[in-house]
Amino acid sequence: MEPLRIDGAEGEGGGQVVRTALGLSLVTGRRIRLVDIRARRGRPGLLRQHLTAVEAAARIGDARVEGARLGSAELDFAPRGIRPGDYSFDVGSAGSVTLVLQTVLPALLAADAPSRLRLFGGTHNPLAPPFDFLARVFVTTIRRMGARVNLELVRHGFFPAGGGEVRAEIHPSPLAPLHLLQRGRVVRRRAEAIVSNLPLSIAERELRVVGWEDAEARPVESAGPGNVVMLHVESEHASELATGFGAKGVPAERVAERALTEAERYLAADVPVGEHLADQLLLPMALAGGGGFRTLPLSSHATTNAALIERFLPVRFLVSGGMVRIEGARGR
Ligand code: ATP
Repeated sequence: MEPLRIDGAEGEGGGQVVRTALGLSLVTGRRIRLVDIRARRGRPGLLRQHLTAVEAAARIGDARVEGARLGSAELDFAPRGIRPGDYSFDVGSAGSVTLVLQTVLPALLAADAPSRLRLFGGTHNPLAPPFDFLARVFVTTIRRMGARVNLELVRHGFFPAGGGEVRAEIHPSPLAPLHLLQRGRVVRRRAEAIVSNLPLSIAERELRVVGWEDAEARPVESAGPGNVVMLHVESEHASELATGFGAKGVPAERVAERALTEAERYLAADVPVGEHLADQLLLPMALAGGGGFRTLPLSSHATTNAALIERFLPVRFLVSGGMVRIEGARGR
């Protein structure tokens, strides 16, 4: 069969196109040919994190692969069947392990036996879901769709040192449609600021800016320096985690303000699904063949992802007035 040709420059033009395409290639068994990979990024082509996702998908999907090299702008990927089991993947840099995990998760949920993964690299990276987001927001939500996934953070890994470890246990589970229309009452707001190899006073300054009552400043063990502020909003029917990352030259107060602005935007919008969860939920909901959610205005990550998913699966995303509905083939 001719490969499905995917233009990596379309829409957002980033790494998510690679991961979604790989994930769907595994689930559907379709061979894909990716061209112009990450064409809209400053350093285009496959970076370590994407290459590890390709390697993980290739091993789990017993795939024939061409073009899996650092910096490669083209990739041919032909899976031969999902092989659940015990795997270990190392990004070999501070690249995000959560994104690698998200790439292969749909296939392992659709497999016929459980899998256990050990992933090494970055666990708390800017521009990727931090481990806590994956565990408390993404996985919490797909569990409600039937997914049986357990995650464990063994060791934090921050940019640039990396060296983190995440373990995942994934049991075969069909996904059922979920309708996330109301957030309900906010039942808990918890602020957490963590530091690794940096003074605890940084985390304490951040929490003063946030000003939430339920707050904890905590040092963690990690290979290098790192700092992250995480604001968890738990509601009756939904969960969200806003994040701010410490970086050289950025005062702790600014880091906290960024996270707080994101959390306040979510709280003011009175929607169940935040900006990042929205783009990440599209794939599991499409695999469930239906469902829907209310969210903030869609990011270009989300619209790019939706268009890509529609090329693989018999679904359509209907977006209007902050509502996303997934219509399966039978609903058409
Ligand atoms: P590139 O380097 O090409 O930008 P990438 O592989 O790092 O690509 P993106 O294509 O930008 O990744 O996709 C990043 C993913 O991480 C998206 O799903 C986005 O929603 C998610 N993400 C980014 N920041 C956060 C955050 N603070 N919390 C949760 N998820 C996040």
